[in-house]
Amino acid sequence: MMITQTKNNGTGRGSLLADVKALLSGREVDVLRALAPEAIRALDATRHVHCPLPYHLDEHPSFRWDCNKQCFHCTCGSYDLFAYLQKANCWEFSETLSRVAGHLGVTNGNPKQPEDDPLETVCQQKRIPLDAAKLFGARTERQTVVVPQYDSRGEQCSTTTISPWGTKKQRKGLNAAGKPAGMHLPHNPDGKVRLPQAGESWFLVESFKCAAALHQLGFLVAGMNGKQIKKEYARLFFGCVVTIVHHLDKPGVSGAKKSAERLYGTVSAVRIARMQGETKDKEGTDVRDVLAGRDGERIVHQAIEDAAAWTPGGEECVLK
Ligand SMILES: [Zn+2]
Repeated sequence: MMITQTKNNGTGRGSLLADVKALLSGREVDVLRALAPEAIRALDATRHVHCPLPYHLDEHPSFRWDCNKQCFHCTCGSYDLFAYLQKANCWEFSETLSRVAGHLGVTNGNPKQPEDDPLETVCQQKRIPLDAAKLFGARTERQTVVVPQYDSRGEQCSTTTISPWGTKKQRKGLNAAGKPAGMHLPHNPDGKVRLPQAGESWFLVESFKCAAALHQLGFLVAGMNGKQIKKEYARLFFGCVVTIVHHLDKPGVSGAKKSAERLYGTVSAVRIARMQGETKDKEGTDVRDVLAGRDGERIVHQAIEDAAAWTPGGEECVLK
């Protein structure tokens, strides 16, 4: 099948297109997640989904992402990233190129755009609100974003550094070398860390990014540094009702159970919320993906409402 491909058919765009293509390589899915939230289901699915293109009334799911060729296939055609964005949004090629370039932080002939604010770029790349990122103490340091991490007594013990124009790992975020990994917590308006108080309801997610995303729904959220909470952190949530919202993947599910076990008895109740969707082996859907998709807020609220209290015996009861 012919894949509708990007052509460099204009003048003066050559070097911009070359810069964009160089930076885009390996980040196609990231870019599509940000610029084409309607296609996220296809990126996450292992099967065909309903075609999100506005002109295709796709009654039998026939749309899928081909991660080898980095393009979408459907009965209505095959599209690389640029072709898809053009079709889905009725954008000209030039507009598509400038949007993708903007997302990657590229201007003509200048792949690392120093005047771009790293924090705004990170928020755009990670799909988190700027205010929520700042609430977790995220700040710009040279060309990176630094977010504080706290130990089990609520003292700052380390940082996460995210480089929006760095390697894949740097874009994901690195813990400070040689420092104990901590937890991300929100801050009060005075800039001091907001620690859990007995009687409050707190949410536990797998990263600063998910914490900031979930916070926008008005919850008190702590971001772990990984899939499960370290046991010494249980005391920090003494007397709270803690709801764990894990990623839809196997490590997320088993991490949530481990966290629940570590919190049980110290917190007043621990619950595990499972968002609708399929559990993948790894890199499953997270709360940011769900919130970016159709009906996202409703799905997250529903999962939280339906979360069952966790007990060591495995008997689950709905906590009201
Ligand atoms: Zn289609």
